[in-house]
Amino acid sequence: MIDLAALHSTPLLADGSVGNDLHGRCAGRAIPVEALNQEDPEAVRAVHEAYADAGAQLLRTNTAQANALALAAYGLADRAEALNNSASALARTASQSGGVVMGALAPPPESLGTESPGTSVMGTAQCERAYGEQIIYLTDTGVDFFLLEHFSRLGDATRITDQIKRISDAPVLAQLKLDATGRTAEGTSASEAAAALVDAGADALGLSCAPGMRELAALAEALLRQGVPVSVMPGIRRQGRPAPYRGAPLLSPAAFAAALAPLGRMGVTILGGCCGVTPLHIRALAEALQSES
Ligand SMILES: [Zn+2]
Repeated sequence: MIDLAALHSTPLLADGSVGNDLHGRCAGRAIPVEALNQEDPEAVRAVHEAYADAGAQLLRTNTAQANALALAAYGLADRAEALNNSASALARTASQSGGVVMGALAPPPESLGTESPGTSVMGTAQCERAYGEQIIYLTDTGVDFFLLEHFSRLGDATRITDQIKRISDAPVLAQLKLDATGRTAEGTSASEAAAALVDAGADALGLSCAPGMRELAALAEALLRQGVPVSVMPGIRRQGRPAPYRGAPLLSPAAFAAALAPLGRMGVTILGGCCGVTPLHIRALAEALQSES
């Protein structure tokens, strides 16, 4: 396990999307990318290895939707434990000596919302059970910390942070996916959301996927004021598209690296990517960080 608080002064490089390449392997088949942890482990390991080769020291497990609730939509609920176990082993095998494995959790797909569009199912007994089990599976495999991805609702992020802290000793890097105005889905500002997450027990805070690159510095500043380690992992797909993995990346590796590298000087200690970010982007960022040091 890792001491996230010890990361205050050292910029570390995380990976980017693990779904970019894997999504294509699921095309035409009614399975989620997480099913590949068992059905095509070599493909998953190849993605992790490409990021490790590019210089990523932090690798996320291919488990964003590997909870029984989301897997049930594919008839795979009974494979949740096996898929999390393989995911963690694949990331650990690919991580280089001293590498760190992040247990990735995302909110359930919007399609599982109940009464009205956009309603979260987080907080239901069914959801609490599914995430509780996934947190135990990932903890038992020895993930170094939990990584929250794509949480646009602060209520969901605080709920899952609190649940992890009740179940596991692993630290939590609570990342939020903010909208173009820098707010959560409830309309909460980045500063207020950051404070709420620290209250809920988050050991580190971060920006996940959205918004655009221009807003990153100001939003990272708001998170840094909480005095905990901060990550920035932007996505580079156009937002609002139905499938986040489709469409060409909006930024070249060089432009991505040029936008992110200065955040290290501001005090952001974990840099990586989300939707659309490839090993080529991470390699360019590794080179940019190296030339700054
Ligand atoms: Zn994303």
